[in-house]
Amino acid sequence: MIGLTTTLVLESLGHTVRVVARATGEATTSAVAGAVWFPYRAGPPQLVAAWAARTRAWLVELAANAATGVDVLEGYEIEPGTGHEPPELPWWAVDLPEVTRVAAPCVGAPLAWRFVAPRVTPATFLPWLTSQLRATIELRSVTDLTAEPGDLVVNCTGLGARVLCNDDQLQPLLGQIVVTRPGAAHLGRSLTDDRDPDAIFYIIPRRDELVLGGCAIPTDELAGEDPAITARILAHARRLGLDVGDVLRVRIIHNYGHGGAGYTLARGCAEAVAQLI
Ligand SMILES: Cc1cc2nc3c(=O)[nH]c(=O)nc-3n(C[C@H](O)[C@H](O)[C@H](O)COP(=O)(O)OP(=O)(O)OC[C@H]3O[C@@H](n4cnc5c(N)ncnc54)[C@H](O)[C@@H]3O)c2cc1C
Repeated sequence: MIGLTTTLVLESLGHTVRVVARATGEATTSAVAGAVWFPYRAGPPQLVAAWAARTRAWLVELAANAATGVDVLEGYEIEPGTGHEPPELPWWAVDLPEVTRVAAPCVGAPLAWRFVAPRVTPATFLPWLTSQLRATIELRSVTDLTAEPGDLVVNCTGLGARVLCNDDQLQPLLGQIVVTRPGAAHLGRSLTDDRDPDAIFYIIPRRDELVLGGCAIPTDELAGEDPAITARILAHARRLGLDVGDVLRVRIIHNYGHGGAGYTLARGCAEAVAQLI
């Protein structure tokens, strides 16, 4: 998201950009994000508020074109605390005049901030963004930024910067999500419940599914799904009265282990797989 957007802007200003990436699409962090507009765990506040407001205006503009995969939702954020204290505009809302304090659309109707929240569908948006570039993506790993050709290198390697720049201040956070069928949930509203920082919750509707989260757990390794986190997220949705559908899971059909007979079995097995599907 960061590298492609940076390229788009630089190209629009007349620069010639070479884009290098170790991986694209599904193999990036950007592919798994919710991905709704909300400045979560980013700083410094003043700069983030301005960058976020600018990005929001851009995404709202893009939402006019359905092919981008961007839609404009109504976002709600339930902050930590009781929700009954005198309202003070959140730091990220300084450039956003329409942010208002309202009852959240969930059980108990705690007070929440309501705002305009563009939501991106990464699987649609990232290919669309790529198609807008003059540059094509060179697929390879960069090991030394100073050895790259050109006048200037812009480093958009996300977590990859930890190794590439030897930056051990960059702390990976584990974010686990659950994707469900829409059920009876409102597809025009995203909701974040930040009241318990150790058990954050969000629901982000896409056009045909829901993304529920979440967590932000410091980690140094790639972990698989933690069923306890999934259960906690789904229980949180139920507690808030959000009527989500069944969890969508990747189903796997194993078609391997054909001994010394792969050419002898391929077509028959392929048709058996097709039948299962
Ligand atoms: C579960 C989850 C939910 C999220 N929800 C939201 C949300 O709702 N809203 C929001 O705004 N954000 C959200 N985020 C955060 C968002 O996904 C990230 O901030 C964003 O994707 C970072 O983009 P990036 O381009 O910097 O990183 P990446 O998508 O990781 O891209 C980095 C690129 O650099 C390449 N690269 C790395 N190292 C090298 C190297 N040495 N050589 C060559 N190429 C290299 C990679 O291959 C990749 O192409 C969420 C994140 C997670 C995990």
